[in-house]
Amino acid sequence: MKEFKPIFDYDAQGPLYIAGPCSAESREQVLAAARGVAAEGVKIFRAGVWKPRTKPGMFEGVGAEALEWLREAKEECGLSVITEVATPEHLEAALRSGIDGVWIGARTTTNPFAMQQIADALEGVDIAVLVKNPVIPDVNLWIGAIERIYNSGVRRIAAVHRGFGTHQATLYRNDPHWSVPIELQRLLPEMTILSDPSHIGGRRDLIAPLSQQALDLGFAGLMIECHPEPDEALSDAMQQITPSVLGDILSSVVWRRTPADADVLRDFRIHIDTIDSRLIELLAERMEVARGIGELKRRHGMAVVQRERFNELLEAAEDRAEAIGVSRRFIHQIFSAIHEESVRQQVSDVEKKVEKK
Ligand code: PEP
Ligand code: MN
Repeated sequence: MKEFKPIFDYDAQGPLYIAGPCSAESREQVLAAARGVAAEGVKIFRAGVWKPRTKPGMFEGVGAEALEWLREAKEECGLSVITEVATPEHLEAALRSGIDGVWIGARTTTNPFAMQQIADALEGVDIAVLVKNPVIPDVNLWIGAIERIYNSGVRRIAAVHRGFGTHQATLYRNDPHWSVPIELQRLLPEMTILSDPSHIGGRRDLIAPLSQQALDLGFAGLMIECHPEPDEALSDAMQQITPSVLGDILSSVVWRRTPADADVLRDFRIHIDTIDSRLIELLAERMEVARGIGELKRRHGMAVVQRERFNELLEAAEDRAEAIGVSRRFIHQIFSAIHEESVRQQVSDVEKKVEKK
């Protein structure tokens, strides 16, 4: 896959921005959002017409009727408009209304049958198709979904990184796992990759820092949820921001252009960032296991610190490190810090349990 084209004509000297509400709720709300984002210089407008909700009983979008409001927003504000499609029927209805592009949601990307049906319906159609990452951090599942669209002849394809579902309590609504989109970019260097800080963060205050982080990591642009009255939003209220807050964020983020001779440095940095993300993810996983051990020891009345076990572990780690040219002293320091934190996690977990009783 090498013949990707830009999804829209835009000024490649800066990031590509897509903004608009999570859901199209009413004609007035759509038009207010469209006018608001257009006034902030955004050229591509998003709004969900059919909403995939995790649980039944939540607002599932108003459906095809809202496509007419999007068309009106496009005409009045001169925006390109995009919406989410999950079935060939959605796609056909969206195409009939003159949509400029569609995005495939994370839950749909996860399902190869659904992807193939949409890809088949896209044959011979020239629109922009944005493929959000699947719910699980599997780069091959993401690439497979993109490949199905590519094989149908579409070339205006972009990937959108929106984070990954997790059962762990983290700062984010969807864990970024930055190493996954970075790997995707390495494998498909010609394709545009955007970031969606709204769905990653799930909170308004995380949108600005996540946006900057994404641009620093080399993403080509951002998709941000924006609502005229965020607190009243029928879906994803916590993460939507007003057009004026969006304007503040877009004018404060820094787009660091890399001169050609800095490309190599940039590649090294991306590599380092990927490794660091993996290190952090591995440490989090290790702490999770340590908490499990703490719980087991508590049940069996065992002491948290088993001195012998730690000495053995340290000795083995130092030997392994030395064999591949890493300093024993350095590994000793790192493992002592990791062990200390593991013990702290086990103790505090036990403490919390005791307090509850
Ligand atoms: C959305 O963009 O509103 C949406 C539902 O996205 P995702 O598929 O990333 O959850
Ligand atoms: Mn949303």
